[in-house]
Amino acid sequence: MKLKISVDPDLCFGAASCVTVSPSHFRLNDKNKAEVLEEGGDIMPGNPIYERIIEADEAKRDELILSAQSCPVSAISIWDMETGERLYPKD
Ligand code: SF4
Repeated sequence: MKLKISVDPDLCFGAASCVTVSPSHFRLNDKNKAEVLEEGGDIMPGNPIYERIIEADEAKRDELILSAQSCPVSAISIWDMETGERLYPKD
């Protein structure tokens, strides 16, 4: 499935819970904001990526939702791009 992962950099304050839950998809940049990575990818200095569409299986989807749930300020949103449904946060 394809998921859109989005971090709101105005809300993110670098608590890093998302990085702890899913280190292959989130990393803090030099502004102390979580960027969305390709699986195992690296952040690109000076070119922050706060939103990305990634390919995920069910295990990866569950891990990403757990990451989003772990964020104390709900800065992470996740959409299923095939159904258009927002998986987190739920309406
Ligand atoms: S858990 Fe939330 S506040 Fe903390 S780094 Fe991740 S997105 Fe930012």
